[in-house]
Amino acid sequence: MNMKKSLLAACAALALFSHAGSAKEVKIGMAIDDLRLERWQKDRDIFVKQAESLGAKVFVQSANGNEETQMSQIENMINRGVDVLVIIPYNGQVLSNVVAEAKREGIKVLAYDRMINNADIDFYISFDNEKVGELQAESIVKQVPKGNYFLMGGSPVDNNARLFRAGQMKVLKPYIDNGSIKVVGDQWVDAWLPENALKIMENALTANSNHIDAVVASNDATAGGAIQALSAQGLSGKVAISGQDADLAAIKRIMNGTQTMTVYKPITELATEAAKIAVELGDDKQPASNSKLNNGLKDVPSRLLNPIPVNKDNIESTVVKDGFHKQSEL
Ligand code: BGC
Repeated sequence: MNMKKSLLAACAALALFSHAGSAKEVKIGMAIDDLRLERWQKDRDIFVKQAESLGAKVFVQSANGNEETQMSQIENMINRGVDVLVIIPYNGQVLSNVVAEAKREGIKVLAYDRMINNADIDFYISFDNEKVGELQAESIVKQVPKGNYFLMGGSPVDNNARLFRAGQMKVLKPYIDNGSIKVVGDQWVDAWLPENALKIMENALTANSNHIDAVVASNDATAGGAIQALSAQGLSGKVAISGQDADLAAIKRIMNGTQTMTVYKPITELATEAAKIAVELGDDKQPASNSKLNNGLKDVPSRLLNPIPVNKDNIESTVVKDGFHKQSEL
């Protein structure tokens, strides 16, 4: 071997060595369903900041509620050679193949906030989503123990939407069974969009001659659309309605009495923990779990965080105290 060749070989060995060491830069691809909704912008910002502070590099893409776009974005990330995919799925039912492709390339997969069904994913982080549904229904039942209820579910292809509904029904069922609550309508809102919720609520009001006493809405975006429809009939503030996410607009509605409650999920905790988990996965470490959830294919090691109900009495001690919203913005 001549001098130049052996020098090259030494450099190559060094490069290999440093790549295998713990100082390796983990490359993360973050595939977000929809940055048009307020909450996901927070998730992205906090996740990226934390991951970068741990020495990782993050590529972010948003599919803006389009299934095909999301699949091609994930494929693109696989081709870019990421070590870890962090996916907030638009449709949790259709990613089995693309996840299998990632796994063949040795890429780890973390389902973020929403489960990916029937796929060989490595980890799932979210909140206790059935609990979210229970908190929503409990608040509304407390306010309206009997009357006509309308159920406004989330996106039919989001696994969380079904978990929220399961939690809601756990609370509502005894009241429905004893006849005090009558469910006058039950719909799911495509892509969780407020404009879809608005139309659904308008139709529900028409179909029931405005005789609706309570709406169990699964998040703030859909609650916002529904409240617009209620307000057009002079009913906002008179009909109890739930939400979720502690969006700024929702907190304002709670303060002015047009929305009954929201569920605050500390996104800082979720995004920070997720970034740590993603880096651990990229370093071939097994992150600590506190639960296992079956996704149809396997029991997925999971970390579930606690949701917090918020009404007009505890805005200060929850979202403001945490710095989720500034007092001056409210
Ligand atoms: C999330 C909610 C969110 C909804 C719409 C759900 O999967 O858990 O926090 O409001 O998606 O983006």
